[in-house]
Amino acid sequence: MSTSIEKAKASKVKVAFFDFSSCEGCQIELTNLGEEVFTGLLQHLEFVEFREVMTETAKGPIDIAFIEGAFTREADRKRLEDIRARSKTVISFGACASTGGITALKNHMSDYSQCVYGVNSGAPHLASQKSEPISAAIKVDYAIHGCPMDKDEFVYIVSHLLHGKEPVIPNHPVCVECKMRETVCRYSYGHHCMGLVARAGCGAPCPADGIPCEACRGFIEHPNEESLTKVMNERGRMTSERAKNKSRMFTATLRGDAK
Ligand code: SF4
Ligand code: SF4
Ligand code: SF4
Repeated sequence: MSTSIEKAKASKVKVAFFDFSSCEGCQIELTNLGEEVFTGLLQHLEFVEFREVMTETAKGPIDIAFIEGAFTREADRKRLEDIRARSKTVISFGACASTGGITALKNHMSDYSQCVYGVNSGAPHLASQKSEPISAAIKVDYAIHGCPMDKDEFVYIVSHLLHGKEPVIPNHPVCVECKMRETVCRYSYGHHCMGLVARAGCGAPCPADGIPCEACRGFIEHPNEESLTKVMNERGRMTSERAKNKSRMFTATLRGDAK
């Protein structure tokens, strides 16, 4: 897979962005990369579809497809399959696409549509099902985590693919990065923090700014949720119910009780 991207370097690598159920904040975040980085990337990449910044759309083959947003309508499956069939590499782009993200909160509410859309909740275009990551519908090769997606991770993954290398996505907790930058633990202030089970890679900016980690990058594989709840109860001064709700803000699909 990496090799095929490398081969495409003779001409520029064709890159497209697609959005599904999302706020499109990840695409917007990409435009914050800065002129210098963008100019560098554009020497190697050709953007063939990117709704936030251009009107053209791509009908042919794509080297790298970035997919933003969750899979929450069966009607979207065909479009996803078409993108997969045309793309050498598919990358989920941000928390909604990678884990179901914040959109998956609806999986735990029976009246979410009415709560959000009120009298218009019955409109046909609002009909949707359980919110799931894109990988529930098609094969995904890599994930860029975060809400919004981490633009440094975007550059890291793209540059690795351009060099024919396998990017490594961290699978250790945010606490590791938090300790490395010598941030005082939020639990010392009686706050809750999910850095204990959140996937690292962001550099732990939130605790460093005095904000507990909300696990926007999702959980590590095999998180010890029992211990998390215990620590939140005892040190974060939270009830079990509140701790449970907090810990599923960005990871609702990954919890056993997602329906
Ligand atoms: S991951 Fe966050 S910023 Fe990105 S589309 Fe989803 S809600 Fe928006
Ligand atoms: S503040 Fe959060 S991320 Fe940092 S060490 Fe404490 S629990 Fe871990
Ligand atoms: S510290 Fe937590 S909430 Fe903040 S960016 Fe990292 S994973 Fe997301």
